[in-house]
Formats: sequence, structure tokens, C-alpha cells
Amino acid sequence: MRIIEKLDEMQQQAESWRRQGKHVALVPTMGYLHQGHLALMKFVRPRADLVVASIFVNPTQFGPGEDLDKYPRDTSRDVKLLGDVGVDVLFIPHAEEMYPDQFQTYVEVKKVTQPLCGISRPTHFRGVTTVVSKLFHLVKPHTAIFGEKDFQQLVTIRRMVKDLNMDVEIMGHPIVREDDGLALSSRNVYLTTEQRRKALRLSQSLDAAEDLVKKGERSGNVILQRVREILAEDQDEDVRIDYAELRQPETLEQVDHVEGPTLLALAVFIGSTRLIDNRVL
Ligand code: AMP
Repeated sequence: MRIIEKLDEMQQQAESWRRQGKHVALVPTMGYLHQGHLALMKFVRPRADLVVASIFVNPTQFGPGEDLDKYPRDTSRDVKLLGDVGVDVLFIPHAEEMYPDQFQTYVEVKKVTQPLCGISRPTHFRGVTTVVSKLFHLVKPHTAIFGEKDFQQLVTIRRMVKDLNMDVEIMGHPIVREDDGLALSSRNVYLTTEQRRKALRLSQSLDAAEDLVKKGERSGNVILQRVREILAEDQDEDVRIDYAELRQPETLEQVDHVEGPTLLALAVFIGSTRLIDNRVL
């Protein structure tokens, strides 16, 4: 696996692949890789001539007081894992080159970034869409893949690609979970054993909501009340619900009655760690 750090080197390589008619797939990540990330790589591997994984802990998507400085990193382990799943190029740009002094251009998607995570993280998606646009210009992929774990991010990127006529096919990949249901996340390392046990409430509440809908329940209030009961079980001070909402999966507009496919989206603080999870009911 080749490692590229310089932006001009990446862009020249991408241009040369394009001239040779190669199909390029990009998997953007912030590193500290787990099986959720690797599932994305394995999924695109047979669908592309060249697979590029990027690792970039993107400062513009972190708000003040968020975990940019303490975000977990282990590049040598990541390199080994990426080599094992057959990634061709690992692109690790540097923040100073991605955002030099005088940087002042942002890509902003409006409506779908406002609810859910947009409320507690008002500048997050602007950072995501800006960096993903930059990565698309640098790697020139034909296909890019993102996890459904970050459902609002996937909806936002699809919207950006449509609105700006970007010539990149966007693929989504289902959420990868531990055997006990916890959605894999780089941030799970912040959890103590006790907190990890409490974190299982997220997937348990999604299961309970799914069961209710299967049994014919259609009222958003009833479903969300059950979800909140499970999440906030025994009025635990260590667990704080940021949001638990039902939304239309493409527009992210609020849903009161489950009539078609409906996104149940959760963000919950366990201690100071904010976890997200979701399911389309
Ligand atoms: P991150 O490094 O957290 O920015 O994630 C990089 C990519 O991996 C994003 O497209 C995420 O949605 C995806 N991803 C992270 N965790 C999971 C998971 N448990 N299942 C599926 N995709 C995931």
C-alpha cells in the first residue's frame, strides 16, 4: 500500500488513474480504524480498480470544546489494517496544507444539516461538506462510500453531490455492530466498562422501537416515549439524551406517524461521550 501525504502528489496520481480509465473508490475516515471502517473498504474493494482510504481528523468539523485534540489516533495500526484489506493508497493529508492561512471557502448544505446533530453541533456539517469536497477534488473518485451510522452526514453528502452536480457516485453501507448491538465507533474507547454497558441502551431502544412498529404501532409519540424510557432508565445521571427523533430518511423532515420508511435517530451522552445511532423503521 502506498502512502501519500502531499496534496499535489495525490492529485497528480488521481489524474493519471483517470487518464488510464481506472475506476477509483474513496473511503474517507478520521482513522483509529475498526471493523465498521474496514467493512466499507471490503465492500468497495471488488467494485473498483483502485481503493483510496483517507485519514484526516478534520479540524473544521469539530466545534469549540469538542474532542479534536484528544480524538484517538494510531496511524501505524491503521496502516497495517488497511494493507490487510487490500487498500491501494492511504491518503493522509496534513491540516496545515488542507487549511493554509487565508483559507476562507466553505461548502454549506442548508436544510438537512439543521435538525438532529445540527442543533448541538451547528458548524459540524459545514466542516464535513467542505472537507469531503476537497477530498473529491484531490482524489477524483468515481465512487465514495460512507456509513449509515452517520446517517445525517450521508443524507447531507448526497444532497451536496446532487446540488453541486459532483460526478461522484455516493454509496451507503449498513451500520456494523458488536455482537451485543453496540454500533462500532472510534469514540467507544472513551467509555468505561460501566458506561459501555449503559451505551447498549441505544441499540436496545432501537430494537424496542422496531418491535413496536412491527406490532402495528404508528404513533411517533408512543414510539419515542418507549425509546426515552429505555435510554433514561432509572434516571441515570450519566446518561443524557441529546435527541431521539423520527424523521423522513431523505429530507430529514419530522415524522409524527410512521407511514413509510422512517428514520429513528439518536444522540446520547454517556458521561461526556456523545454517541449516535439510528435505524430506518
Ligand atoms: P469516521 O472515521 O468516524 O469519520 O468514520 C468514517 C466512515 O466510516 C464514515 O462514513 C462513517 O459513517 C463510517 N463508519 C463509522 N462507524 C461505522 C459503523 N459502525 N458502521 C458502518 N460505518 C461506520
